[in-house]
Amino acid sequence: MEEKLLKEKRNPWENINIDEKERIYNFSQGFIHFINESKTERECTKTIEKMLKDSGYKNIEDVNTLKTNDKIYYINRGKNVYAAIIGEDLNRGFNMIGAHMDSPRLDLKPNPLYETNELALLKTHYYGGIKKYQWVNIPLSMHGVIIKKNNEKVEINIGEKEEDPVFTIADLLPHLSSKQEKKTLKDGIEAEDLNILAGSIPINKDNEEKVKLNILTILNEKYGITENDFVSSEIEFTPAMKARDLGFDRSLVGGYGQDDRVCSYASIKAILDIENPKKTALCILVDKEEIGSMGNTGMFSNTFDYFVDMLLEKANIEKTEKNKIYNNSKVLSADVTGAYNPNYPDIYEKNNESYLNRGISLMKYTGSASKGGASDASAEYLGYIRNIFESNNVVYQVSEMGKIGIGGGGTIAYILANKGMDVIDCGIPIMSMHSPYEISSKFDIYNAFKAYKAFYKDNL
Ligand code: MN
Ligand code: MN
Repeated sequence: MEEKLLKEKRNPWENINIDEKERIYNFSQGFIHFINESKTERECTKTIEKMLKDSGYKNIEDVNTLKTNDKIYYINRGKNVYAAIIGEDLNRGFNMIGAHMDSPRLDLKPNPLYETNELALLKTHYYGGIKKYQWVNIPLSMHGVIIKKNNEKVEINIGEKEEDPVFTIADLLPHLSSKQEKKTLKDGIEAEDLNILAGSIPINKDNEEKVKLNILTILNEKYGITENDFVSSEIEFTPAMKARDLGFDRSLVGGYGQDDRVCSYASIKAILDIENPKKTALCILVDKEEIGSMGNTGMFSNTFDYFVDMLLEKANIEKTEKNKIYNNSKVLSADVTGAYNPNYPDIYEKNNESYLNRGISLMKYTGSASKGGASDASAEYLGYIRNIFESNNVVYQVSEMGKIGIGGGGTIAYILANKGMDVIDCGIPIMSMHSPYEISSKFDIYNAFKAYKAFYKDNL
């Protein structure tokens, strides 16, 4: 009776056998390798394009006609990936999973390099919702592209290899911090003080900025660039620490950029792992989610419709069917949510939180206090999704995030729901989200992979 009526209370790890444990750990090893290789949306795109090609996916631009079971991908401006397997009848809509590959970080300003007191520094402009005090005194690596005047693209990646130098932002020593420590946590480190230390040796020339000139000389020798070339660059500084197993039992993963590369990885692995889905499986990995999904690589972009138009045209389906296809589509917005943090119990309403090791998290709605701005999935759609999960032994939990009015958040869910699709947020719980060292559970990561795979294969 008890078993039938009450929710399962036992920790799911207790039901795991040796084989399943090995699958869980192996899957996470792949994920750890992935995030260590892919620290920016551009690097993620490159890694994933290779995964798709290696699995026989063809660039849609190289394909003239599409038929059932064809596997295609499309890369938008090097920052945004679409991958699909064509189903038996496109008119029945997509089974679509959408995640994002951009993560909070420090971007360089357009005029970044300056010298003061014989030290060279770089001005940054933070990207996404960060707690600024977390980003000082940690090793940082430099990633991105610089476009020279002749349109040549220089790719930069410094600080990831063992032999590379790293960078950092120097905080005040405690001995001189009495004034700083009276400030609020929010203002303790100000945005304009997030200046990255970049060098200290002067060049032997008659110049006022000898250290800056020396740095430019080094950059010019290595990359052939000048100070002006920063104008046409996108340089991101990310934590240089490697992701790795966390805890004595190695049950958790610690590492930067898990929001939302953990769901990106699980959803791309899921589509790579299925064959002949009845409905068209579509995986989209977008950029700019952390700053509002605007721009031509974000979820709001018409590039999504451009891609769908291309797909329909090559599959010989009238474009006038597009809205019907959207209306028939089912979507998982695969984005992470906050995991209960035992250090701050007052923040939470314990019955409705996501917990590490309790499986993939379903959020009926996001938004804040009044459910303002929320995309609210219907009971019918939740019923459909939980049926898939329960029939495929996917461990899941259902939650909000924090007590009402404490805060809130959003994802790409509402943008797709506004197109007429059924959408629910469905992702992995993360502790210390948006920090330089986020925490996830290997059990939850593997259950997300299982959930996404089952969803792609569903034929209702
Ligand atoms: Mn996210
Ligand atoms: Mn985020």
